[in-house]
Amino acid sequence: MGKKDDLRSELQHLVGALRNHVANERDAYNPVSRLTMKREPIPRREEEGMGGLSALKPSAKAGTSKTPPALAGVREELGDCTRCTLHRTRRNLVFGEGSAGAKLVFVGEAPGEEEDKQGRPFVGRAGQLLTKIINAMGLKREEVYICNILKCRPPGNRNPKEDEIATCEPFLLKQLEAINPEIICALGTFAAKTLLRTESPISAIRGKFHDYHGRKLMPTYHPAYLLRNPDAKKLVWDDVQKIMKIL
Ligand code: SF4
Repeated sequence: MGKKDDLRSELQHLVGALRNHVANERDAYNPVSRLTMKREPIPRREEEGMGGLSALKPSAKAGTSKTPPALAGVREELGDCTRCTLHRTRRNLVFGEGSAGAKLVFVGEAPGEEEDKQGRPFVGRAGQLLTKIINAMGLKREEVYICNILKCRPPGNRNPKEDEIATCEPFLLKQLEAINPEIICALGTFAAKTLLRTESPISAIRGKFHDYHGRKLMPTYHPAYLLRNPDAKKLVWDDVQKIMKIL
């Protein structure tokens, strides 16, 4: 009897253990649990997918990555421009060059003879001095953007006319919108006075930040002026140091 009882007890224990095992297995494969288990990875995959989609959404980073096509779009829109009479005498249209995501944009008045020949901004003697100033700021020319209010050379380097500015300046604004710089440095009397719509001389407005369509604009002397008046280099250095502090 004792052996039989032991055997029954052992069998009951085994059956109980087997039932528990089956119950555990059933719980583990419960459809609700399975759905839950299957659902859990989906949000992760969706999150990963959203990461990819979010790269397409407007954001600070996306804005930066959108900048080059936007600037290229401005160039495309300008095309082989004949909107004002300067197209008749130009050799090359000088759109601008540098980083499409530059924090600092230098804006001059208009291309000179060498710029007209090469189709690039600030490449003559004054341009070489500008490059030295940029380097002295601890930057490379390729890290900033350089352009002019007018994209075509006025014959004989005469002063731009009002209608030429009115026709061409909207493209400068579009360039700035595409680049979205922190600071604009206006080079020379004409550029500064035109952009700020002021008759004040450059000596009165340089060295201070002004507002240009919601952006900081620092007027300073044109490098060509510095070639004729080397003493003014110190003043320009003071002005660019103020820019460097913000950058
Ligand atoms: S100066 Fe400006 S508006 Fe005039 S033709 Fe050149 S790009 Fe066009």
